[in-house]
Amino acid sequence: MPSTIETEAKRRRTFAIIAHPDAGKTTLTEKLLLFGGAIQLAGEVKAKKNRTHSRSDWMKIERERGISVATSVMTFEYGDNIFNLLDTPGHEDFADDTYRTLSAVDSAVMVLDAAKGIEPRTLKLFEVCRLRDIPIITFVNKMDRESRDPFEILDEVEEKLALDTAPITWPIGRAKSFAGTYHLADNAVRGSDSEVERTQVNGPEADAAAGLLPENEREGFIEGVNLAREACRPFDQESYLEGHLTPVYFGSALKNFGVRDLIHALAQFAPPPRAQEADKRKVEASEKGMSAFVFKIQANMDPNHRDRIAFARVCSGALDRGMKARLVRTGKSLTLSAPQFFFAHQRQTADTAHAGDVVGIPNHGSLRIGDTLTEGEDFVFRGVPNFAPEILRRVRLKDAMKGKKLTEALQQMAEEGVVQLFIPDDGSPSIVGVIGALQLDVLKARLDAEYSLPVEFETARFSVCRWISSENKASFDAFLNKHRSSTAKDLDGDPVFLAENGFSLNYEAERAPDMVFKTIKDYQ
Ligand code: GDP
Repeated sequence: MPSTIETEAKRRRTFAIIAHPDAGKTTLTEKLLLFGGAIQLAGEVKAKKNRTHSRSDWMKIERERGISVATSVMTFEYGDNIFNLLDTPGHEDFADDTYRTLSAVDSAVMVLDAAKGIEPRTLKLFEVCRLRDIPIITFVNKMDRESRDPFEILDEVEEKLALDTAPITWPIGRAKSFAGTYHLADNAVRGSDSEVERTQVNGPEADAAAGLLPENEREGFIEGVNLAREACRPFDQESYLEGHLTPVYFGSALKNFGVRDLIHALAQFAPPPRAQEADKRKVEASEKGMSAFVFKIQANMDPNHRDRIAFARVCSGALDRGMKARLVRTGKSLTLSAPQFFFAHQRQTADTAHAGDVVGIPNHGSLRIGDTLTEGEDFVFRGVPNFAPEILRRVRLKDAMKGKKLTEALQQMAEEGVVQLFIPDDGSPSIVGVIGALQLDVLKARLDAEYSLPVEFETARFSVCRWISSENKASFDAFLNKHRSSTAKDLDGDPVFLAENGFSLNYEAERAPDMVFKTIKDYQ
């Protein structure tokens, strides 16, 4: 008989939604939670965001700009499954956060606007998923509006993402006539999501299918279904799990169509918690010993208390309230006295979390992004990546006397993942790196509010940053010696090379063939 640990892990589905802004991610999130019974009324997701953050100074930036900085975790139960939806910031300037969150999920739902298809941010997020072989289910949203032909959308996904598509449902009508979804393999219809069960029919001609449409649209729908069956690829579970094929669903999150199909798809196809790679071995979700890694840190909303919540994804075993865990980086033991689940509408104290679950661990700075927690074993997960920053700035302090305090504060901010920090080898002032300019605004606001450190940013001489290594120690040392004014150490003490631009990077790289220049670094 499978153990509780194994059974609990198997019924988890931990996923994120990737979408270009405005495609309907928030609306779909609300509806998933609504049908999952996690919230009473749609609309609470947005409302909650505003309420929780209203006390925070630095969150003012978010409010003023109407964007969401924080990542939250929402859990709901549907049928036999428990779903953990990890929300990601919509604004591209917080891409760092999104990438890290994607390291903590087992699958993703890609939401497309049916009129717009693949948009720039969809593409970028898809690339991150592909990098990590995250399987993707596609939800074509806004079918209740004027949209593209479904075949055109499938073609675009195949072409732009080099991803095979297998439509599972087909839209019954479009725009004003959109009346539900037709399950291609099962010959079954669901009108709106208020219908819990699908209605079995004999074929697309049925009254309960084509019959839902105005007469002049019926023929087109029937032809569409027949063509989709003949011309489209059949669904292949393995190919989906490997990230080569995406099952496609159509719907309207706003009007409650297709959301239930999507939940069923996640339950049926999406993978349960996957085995995670650690430095010494692979860790299976079904293992008894608890293990977890920290993928996000959220600062306390109250600037007077510098405590923070580390979001940890459980990878194996069970994490119990009160248990002692080993923080592998320091070798110290940490009592998990108040781990928290994050439900959509309230924080609950968790008694036990299983593989796939995310818990919030309040701490005063002992945990940082990338940290591994175990029940004693000594291994480190390789999960959380660092992406080379695209903007580099020197931090200039208005009050030069506070240099030491600034170093500490920057270190804290870097541990929380607000920015990346680079300490130049030549002793010049610290350089911070970000992916999006808004991260600098957050850093500035927080340094001011939490540490009373007003700072300005100066353009650094550099615009490109790469992690460097070499199998040949002599070449490596020679490179460091030669470039002392353009090398630095990151938060973990790993060396980076800073270049003025892409051209000079290539120039130096060509002259140092033994050196490896990396744009992505795993945290540990
Ligand atoms: P996000 O930026 O991806 O989170 O998108 P939102 O969920 O905030 O949706 C953006 C806009 O599209 C809002 O005005 C929504 O009401 C609207 N919207 C979302 N889903 C649908 C849909 O299925 N049909 C229609 N007509 N509008 C939708």
